[in-house]
Order: sequence, then structure tokens, then C-alpha cells
Amino acid sequence: MKTYVVGNWKLNFNVGEASIYLHKLLKKLPNYRDVEVVIAPSTIALQPLSLQVDRHKMKLAAQNGFYRDYGAFTGETSMSQLRGIVDYVIVGHSERRYVMGENDKMIAKKVAAAVRNRITPILCVGETENERAFGETADVIRDQVLGGLSEVSEEDIDKVIIAYEPVWAISSVKGAKLATPDEVATVVGLVRATISEVYGAETGERVPVLFGGSVNPSNAGAYLTVPGVNGVLMGGSSLILSEFIDIIDTAKRVRA
Ligand code: PEP
Repeated sequence: MKTYVVGNWKLNFNVGEASIYLHKLLKKLPNYRDVEVVIAPSTIALQPLSLQVDRHKMKLAAQNGFYRDYGAFTGETSMSQLRGIVDYVIVGHSERRYVMGENDKMIAKKVAAAVRNRITPILCVGETENERAFGETADVIRDQVLGGLSEVSEEDIDKVIIAYEPVWAISSVKGAKLATPDEVATVVGLVRATISEVYGAETGERVPVLFGGSVNPSNAGAYLTVPGVNGVLMGGSSLILSEFIDIIDTAKRVRA
């Protein structure tokens, strides 16, 4: 299985800046066949960057996409419009859940729409600080995994990636803390157990599960070697080219 290194640029970089970053990244990026490098720029940059990117070296992701293909949905971009432009789409990021008010039902429709349009959804799940403090982590993770995958058939489950992103560990959250590798291992185990319940044990082992939450060059190696973790999803560190490259190199090294 590949190791995934995914950069979520969030609402950063205009189209020109994104293009310059991509140019520099492509120049420096080694061709590691077993490391899947993905960046998720703003929607407005996706189309021009799709003409610039070398898909043999890396892939593009959307940060979001709507579940209906067309119609009266002002401001939305459909998965069908993203088809052919991106290979991945982030779905259910905590900022979309807690800032934009997305719920598991909408997230499930987005996951299904992505799969229908041959875009691999990266379904983000993660508990808040309060949920963890009240001992609700296992229930929250189970609900978000089952909820997000509720429209995914057995046939399609291999087209989905899960990212465990504890909300309290995301660097832009006030007072963010680092998750310990043990904490990550426990929840990644829960994610896999939940998938196994519905889709069988083999699938539970096989689905790629990523970790995200303040991953940076000094801790990436520790997270990438947590049992059951197949890659990392970063916000802050993906905005700094040297850090992003460093983490890609680490991913290659830990696989060796
Ligand atoms: C994220 O928001 O998906 C994320 C993991 O951010 P950061 O790496 O900045 O914590």
C-alpha cells in the first residue's frame, strides 16, 4: 500500500501563489512511487493547477465538493464538475463540520457523490476536546465513520480513505495539543474495527487511514510509524514548501 502525504492549503494562496508553489514543488519532488503526494488548493486554483501538475509525480485534491451534480445550489461546486480535475476530495473536515455546519448526512452524500464521480474521498473524522474529556471519543468516531460511509457499498469501500484528525490537535485551534502516538494508534484501531463490523475484517485492515493534527517535520516520523497509519494530512506544514518536502522524504524513509 502507498503512504499518503496530503497537504490541505485551506483558505491560503491566491491562484498565482498556488501556481508558483506547485512549480517549485514539482521541481524538487522526487518520484517516489510508493509515496502518494497530494495537495488540496482552493477551488478557484484547481482548474489552472490541473493543467500544470505532473500527475505521475503527485495529485490534486479538492477541499470540498457538493453532492448534487447540478441545479439551484448557489455557490457550490459539484463533484461532477471536479471530475477529471482532481483525484481526491477532502470530505467532512472539522472546519466544515463545526464552522460551516455540515452533518453526517450531508457528509455521507458527499462521500457517495465523490465515489460516483471517480474521485477518492478522504473522509475526515475526529473528536473535539470536550468529547474526549467526557469519554465520548469512541462513540463519536464510530458515529462519524458509520455516518460518513452510510451510502458506500461493499463494492466501493476500497475507493475511500479515512483521515483521523482530532479537532483538539489541529494547529489552528486555540490551545492545540499534540496527540501521542498511542492515542493515535487507539483511535485508528477504532476506525478499523468500525469498518470491519460493516465491511469485514479484511477491508478493515485494508482501508487507508491517515492521521492529521499539527504534523510537522519533527513529529512526522513518529506518526507515520504508528501501527495502522498509512499517511499524514497536514494544514500548516503543507504551506511551507521545505517542511512539506521534508515530510515527503520522511514518508519515503519510514517505508524503506
Ligand atoms: C487540518 O486542518 O487538516 C490539519 C491537520 O491542520 P494542521 O496540520 O495545521 O494541524
